[in-house]
Amino acid sequence: MSERFDLYRAEHEDIEPPVILLEDVSKDYVGGQHALKNVSLEIRKGEFVFIVGISGSGKSTLIKLLMKEISPTGGHIMVAGKDLSRLREYSVCKHRRNIGIVFQDFRLLKDRTVFENVAFAQRVLETPNYKIRRDVPRILSLVGLSEKLDSYPDELSGGEQQRVALARALVNNPVILLADEPTGNLDPRNSWEIMRLLEEINRRGTTVVVVTHNKEIVDAMQKRVITLNKGVVVSDQRGGYSRAKN
Ligand code: ADP
Ligand code: MG
Repeated sequence: MSERFDLYRAEHEDIEPPVILLEDVSKDYVGGQHALKNVSLEIRKGEFVFIVGISGSGKSTLIKLLMKEISPTGGHIMVAGKDLSRLREYSVCKHRRNIGIVFQDFRLLKDRTVFENVAFAQRVLETPNYKIRRDVPRILSLVGLSEKLDSYPDELSGGEQQRVALARALVNNPVILLADEPTGNLDPRNSWEIMRLLEEINRRGTTVVVVTHNKEIVDAMQKRVITLNKGVVVSDQRGGYSRAKN
């Protein structure tokens, strides 16, 4: 465990450390793009957080930093008690097991069945077969797809495909679920369905971070909303999108 994390604990003895902690984080891409500027924020275990902001404001950059797909140019990031700058390659894989992720474009394997798409996430971790046979139907039932185990992605609606992606993200029981515009390709009914599932997953204890443009949903759900603008956190409060300053 890192010194910074110990220090944080010493200063906040009474409370659990945040599951996500950014301290003064900046990200400049090669070519001079300042995608994030001195972002500091804490997300606690069990929170449900929306990240909003116009296109180009740094939302996906934040998600990629949390996955350690990219590294910050400045500052510190801690996820599930680990200082990401200190992770070696082997530990990066372990770190990613703590995180489930879904994207706007589903990213399913087109030549595999629904069952195999979800099982894939377990096979890469060399999960034993008996566990795969037990876990995959269980998680597909949670997202309402028990009837579709043998279907292929092309045979499913967009909403169903996103539910498969969600099942795949959840099958290894992550501490954190990240969703980068998960409803961007869905109609309102399917968008709501996905959000209700995210809420249910959160109710079961997973910390959920959702990047979205869907004002109606953000307004209705009354969760914590972090607004980014040009790489800066301009608002962080509970409530709807419309209250957030853009
Ligand atoms: P959002 O997800 O909020 O739309 P991004 O995090 O994708 O925003 O992008 C933030 C800024 O960083 C934008 O100006 C974007 O053009 C720039 N950017 C994102 N990815 C790269 C990259 N790989 N190389 C250079 N610039 C990038
Ligand atoms: Mg984005």
